[in-house]
Amino acid sequence: MRYIFVTGGVVSSLGKGIVTSSLGAILRGRGYRVSALKIDPYVNLDAGTMRPYEHGEVFVTADGAETDLDIGHYERFLDRDLARMNNVTTGQVYLSVIQKERRGDYLSQTVQVIPHITDEIKERIRSLAHEQAAEIVIVEVGGTVGDIESLPFLEAIRQMRFDEGVENTLYIHLTLVPYLKTSGEFKTKPTQHSVAMLRSVGIQPDLIVLRSERDVPQEVRRKVALFTNVEVDAVFTSYDVGFIYEVPLILEEQGLGKKVETKLGLEPVIPNLGVWRDAVETLRSPEHRVRVAVAGKYVKMPDAYLSLMEALRHGGIKNKADVEIVWVDVEDLATHEDLERAFSGVDAILVPGGFGVRGIEGKVRAAQYAREQGIPYLGICLGMQVAVIEFARNVAGLERANSTEFDPYTPHPVIDLMPEQLEVKELGGTMRLGDWPMRVREGTLLSRVYEGKSLVSERHRHRYEVNPAYVERLEGAGLVISGVTPGLQGRGEGLVEAIELPDHPFFLGVQSHPEFKSRPMRPSPPFVSFIAAALDFQRQRRFLASS
Ligand code: GLN
Repeated sequence: MRYIFVTGGVVSSLGKGIVTSSLGAILRGRGYRVSALKIDPYVNLDAGTMRPYEHGEVFVTADGAETDLDIGHYERFLDRDLARMNNVTTGQVYLSVIQKERRGDYLSQTVQVIPHITDEIKERIRSLAHEQAAEIVIVEVGGTVGDIESLPFLEAIRQMRFDEGVENTLYIHLTLVPYLKTSGEFKTKPTQHSVAMLRSVGIQPDLIVLRSERDVPQEVRRKVALFTNVEVDAVFTSYDVGFIYEVPLILEEQGLGKKVETKLGLEPVIPNLGVWRDAVETLRSPEHRVRVAVAGKYVKMPDAYLSLMEALRHGGIKNKADVEIVWVDVEDLATHEDLERAFSGVDAILVPGGFGVRGIEGKVRAAQYAREQGIPYLGICLGMQVAVIEFARNVAGLERANSTEFDPYTPHPVIDLMPEQLEVKELGGTMRLGDWPMRVREGTLLSRVYEGKSLVSERHRHRYEVNPAYVERLEGAGLVISGVTPGLQGRGEGLVEAIELPDHPFFLGVQSHPEFKSRPMRPSPPFVSFIAAALDFQRQRRFLASS
């Protein structure tokens, strides 16, 4: 078992998750079973209760954990399902140590940060390696070296070299090298300070990855090597690239994989990175271009929709198309003119998931506009719920129909709390989460999307659902329920999982979040079909315009 530890210096948001994932892809491309673990030094137990505006998207794993968005990067780059245990937070570590203390596991001892907290951290890293049968585990320590809250984690990973042996451990430090345009200089001082700080807690990095706007020249790398005691050929640059899928390629090209092989005593292998090469090639020279409007409320913080953007890109790659996302703030959609302006020239409309009443009427209008104008529509989770609300109000004649999430007194609660949610008092980790199966109705758009499969599984994160009491009336008015939850030991029998409109080129709503399962090598079927529909719509629009 081998462990690679990735720390970050100078500033946050360097893209440590991408570098960690890319290293994973490079090793995975050599045939190793690789897993990755993200350490988040905050006290929350998980990311589920944090604002997407601050922390970006909450990623959901198959086993229903609400995690940091880096877990999504790991899944996409490693092409493997990860789990709750792949994201460790300070909160989790302290909670289990305190529970053990109450149980009497540490009877007669004084429970301390060292060794009890650090042991708990090490235990979590090791048990992940065992349980996921990983040959190499990459551990990314969130935050920046020098943060008070990451100290116990740094101490734990420092000790792991002693426990596991020098030959089985590797420390990689990612830092920022600012480039000053006015003087045309790369500045290494922040890197020197950051490595000095890392050394002050006992960790000497083996490899350094410099984040920079542009490729850092050899003499600057030499300087970094000189001042940090790292070999010159162990200093790499992760410079800005057009597409994140290029990062594994540029790091491999610089010899990162080879260096890791040497340091960890692995057999030299020629890696297979074809997936990344193909993806980048398609992205660089697409045959088509489509414009997809994403109508949501976190549009000023695209990280809040990270997996969604990736899934759209994957759907694009499959269709040899570049997907341009047009961000539409749903709070700006009050009138018909607003809608025309916002959606003029777009080839498809997507309404993503979300919570809370703010912006909800704008989302309903976006769904209505897509339905009436025959524009391809994909509604994800809340995006499906607003499509149902819109249909109920404007087609089925159910005046003021709504979700009880937004209007508890609506005369027509077409979207309502799931029965098992009525008892729920705590908000953390209590939604319907993770993988749930869906039965696909034959002869529907959904069935074509999933290529005739009758049972599929997607990830979920929601509290509300289509109210079963309204299903008959909605169907009577023409809504097609194309996916339902199969009966599971009497629970959740027949919950609506997907809806569509028969007389529309492509109008699909899903209660799940298929974006979480989408990967460059395994694009999500609803996204592939959605982009194909956008291309059809574009062709038709052009044809009409020219005739
Ligand atoms: N707020 C809605 C619910 O809880 C939708 C959730 C979502 O879009 N993820 O059901």
